[in-house]
Amino acid sequence: MGNFDKIVNLCKSRGFIFPGSDIYDGLANTWDYGPVGVELKNNIKRAWWKKFVQEAPASYGVDADIFMNSKVWEASGHTASFSDPKMDCKSCKTRHRADNLIEAYSKGKVNPDVMTNEEMEQYIAEHKVACPKCGKSDWTNIRNFNLMFSTSRGVTDEGQNLIYLRPETAQGEFVNFLNVQRSMRAKVPFGIAQIGKAFRNEVTPGNFTFRTIEFEQMEHQWFCKAEESMDFYHEYKKKALDFLLSIGFSAENLRYHDHDKLAHYAKAACDIQYQYPIGWEELNGIHHRGDWDLSRHQEFSGKSMLYLDPFTNEKYIPNVIEYSIGADRLTLAVLCEAYDEETLEGGDTRVVMHFHPAIAPYKVAILPLQKNLSEKANEVYSTLAKHFMVTYDEAGSIGKRYRRQDEIGTPMCVTIDFDTLENNTVTIRDRDTMEQIRLSIDELVDYVSKKIDY
Ligand code: ATP
Repeated sequence: MGNFDKIVNLCKSRGFIFPGSDIYDGLANTWDYGPVGVELKNNIKRAWWKKFVQEAPASYGVDADIFMNSKVWEASGHTASFSDPKMDCKSCKTRHRADNLIEAYSKGKVNPDVMTNEEMEQYIAEHKVACPKCGKSDWTNIRNFNLMFSTSRGVTDEGQNLIYLRPETAQGEFVNFLNVQRSMRAKVPFGIAQIGKAFRNEVTPGNFTFRTIEFEQMEHQWFCKAEESMDFYHEYKKKALDFLLSIGFSAENLRYHDHDKLAHYAKAACDIQYQYPIGWEELNGIHHRGDWDLSRHQEFSGKSMLYLDPFTNEKYIPNVIEYSIGADRLTLAVLCEAYDEETLEGGDTRVVMHFHPAIAPYKVAILPLQKNLSEKANEVYSTLAKHFMVTYDEAGSIGKRYRRQDEIGTPMCVTIDFDTLENNTVTIRDRDTMEQIRLSIDELVDYVSKKIDY
């Protein structure tokens, strides 16, 4: 079994991620975070917010509605052209993305992003690219399907209006540019950040949570002057990478991938890719979008998006540097990065998730050595639970309990023994080194706080 399958199995058995609607045999590519997974994902989102809002004095958070006026999607171009080039296999009737077929067939050597639909059809025919499902090469022409999920609004059947589930969170930041600027008395350059759900009716090849139809995005739009925009673009490329390194990624598993083909309005674009067990894949994007977004909203809404510079009296529409990362795709990368199988002295093996302590689901596990120590153990639990996510386990041998905590990446295990009753001390075991030290209960909160400091 490859590591990816082992991670998927561990996610289910240890409460990270379950298949959606599991008791009804699931619903393709929907996933539910379990008790351990929701802590991990929340901690990742918190770490991102800390870096890009809390510690960034000129950045402001918003939480915009998922539903937006349909004109927003006309202005953004999503209604007209947010689509994937899809082909149906005439033999087994499955649907595939033409660009993905070419990428997989050429092992990444051919870049379908720079090809027209006709060129992609020609490549697939010439190379007899096979259907990944049935192996035949008998394709329909490419058709472009809009990726937005639509629904209708209204309490009666008549007069219902078509509305969309947002396919990206970015528009919530763009339409609030003036609201944020005025209410916060913000001066360009400044940023607007948001974490929220997005929905895309994509063909999903089944790589666990890598590409799903519902997902969460963490986005940061930086509004700046055109003359300074390229410097900020490079700054955000660096900030995006630094954030990943700061939550525990190793540099050799990350790389920049600059785009060859740019959207007509874009001045530069780059992804950061992560080396997943399934190969190098996009983890986040950094895009220099020029003044396209605000200009389009000015055109479609009829509201001026001009910013009046209070120092120079210049009036201009700011440029935007967008940094966008999927919270679920990042959580999956964190799981892959943390997964490890270690051989211990004596030949035993252990699975251990080496999460950075700041994002580990539980910071501490409380393990009484015997059941009759549970009263004291519960006391310690209550003290720590006021400050951190703590878990408690009194079932099975201490060795088995350590293994269970290693598998969910708990950085510290506190054991309560008979000495604890005598002198108010406990042992703390470190997940990675497995070393133990003895500490007074009074020092625990400080000790754990320092360990998880980020
Ligand atoms: P891809 O090329 O993988 O489809 P994209 O270039 O369309 O991604 P963006 O629209 O720039 O992606 O979205 C920004 C980020 O949102 C991506 O880098 C990714 O982390 C995340 N994301 C996009 N689509 C999905 C999806 N279907 N499932 C999970 N995460 C996604």
